[in-house]
Amino acid sequence: MNDTDVLIAGAGPTGLTLACALALRGVRVRVIERRSQPHRESRGKGLRAGSIAIFQELGMAEPLIAAGTAGVVLRKYFDGEHINDTPTPADAGLLIGQWQIEEALRGRLAGLGVRVEYGAELVGITQDHAGVRAELADGGVIAARYLAGCDGGRSTTRGLLGIPFEGKGETQPAMVIGDVRAPGLDRGVWHQWFTSEGGGMLLCPMPGTDTFQLQASPEQDEHGEPLPPSLESFQRIFDRCARMPGIRLEDPTWLSSWRVNVRMATRIREGRVLLAGDAAHVHPIAGGLGMNTGIEDAAALGRALAAALAGPDADAPLDAYETERLSVAAGVLADTAERYERVVEAVRTPGRGTEVALE
Ligand SMILES: Cc1cc2nc3c(=O)[nH]c(=O)nc-3n(C[C@H](O)[C@H](O)[C@H](O)COP(=O)(O)OP(=O)(O)OC[C@H]3O[C@@H](n4cnc5c(N)ncnc54)[C@H](O)[C@@H]3O)c2cc1C
Repeated sequence: MNDTDVLIAGAGPTGLTLACALALRGVRVRVIERRSQPHRESRGKGLRAGSIAIFQELGMAEPLIAAGTAGVVLRKYFDGEHINDTPTPADAGLLIGQWQIEEALRGRLAGLGVRVEYGAELVGITQDHAGVRAELADGGVIAARYLAGCDGGRSTTRGLLGIPFEGKGETQPAMVIGDVRAPGLDRGVWHQWFTSEGGGMLLCPMPGTDTFQLQASPEQDEHGEPLPPSLESFQRIFDRCARMPGIRLEDPTWLSSWRVNVRMATRIREGRVLLAGDAAHVHPIAGGLGMNTGIEDAAALGRALAAALAGPDADAPLDAYETERLSVAAGVLADTAERYERVVEAVRTPGRGTEVALE
């Protein structure tokens, strides 16, 4: 007897969207998450129209639409001088933090009777013609008819299945990232400072918070190695790029760095185990397609798994999922790599910023 129909590893936007899509269709679902509790990191901060449409079908879009910001204005500076303001196009989507999206998904899921099981880490997988046995780090075992690996770019599921993650990646971080407060800085626009000597800093006001998402070129040490993210380093970069001596950055609630990685799994189905989201593909964040592609994977996988569980031919919908989403992933990898190059090139010109990623 299986403990559940579908076991989902990973409670990021992909896993949570899939869980809602399945629970709404009456499928028995469990979600295990390695973290001990939810995070509060802004990370993927834009919901595109396709994701909003999916959330509308799940019955949870309205609070996010009310909380988010549409049409944020990008304020571009060069060598500290204000050059211009550019409104983002109407179809660019909604600005909202990833943690708020995950919170809304968890709320919807709880309404459907499912709670994320935190502190539960997938460490082993075996499968046969009837189902999958997932081994957890605490020694527990969950038996399911299917397992969905929504466990992010370093996917344990993908590793356990031995699925290659092909593509290329840089060894050094291209950006330091974080969530900070900047008292006194105008919260009505997304500030983008670039400099003639190269590099820059972006501070984006995150709706429903008093924080900004910070993205910046990392500082380098005397050997040219990038320095890790820290509040002190963020302040030095800010002072050099923004030249606003009255503004002090404070309270970093998230510090991270980001490396360029353009990779995808060579297959996303292995019998009764499927991959979705960052577990299946990672690519540059230019254009904000990472989380959104994962949400669309999840909607497609929800339909495919529901059909596989209900119908006489389980293989057809699951094979169709793999064919469709591998093709989408390949397109997104090429598209975002090109958008990223466009941004890197454009910001050398005064008055240009991340809007070129949306062109
Ligand atoms: C620093 C950074 C900045 C980013 N900025 C942007 C951006 O500006 N725009 C954008 O669109 N995207 C951005 N992204 C990408 C976006 O955050 C991801 O595309 C998105 O989070 C993918 O969602 P996911 O659910 O597939 O994976 P994740 O969000 O990575 O979720 C995977 C979950 O699985 C859990 N997990 C991992 N292993 C196990 C295991 N063995 N057992 C159980 N649980 C496990 C993890 O703890 C995690 O909660 C950024 C990502 C990073 C890291």
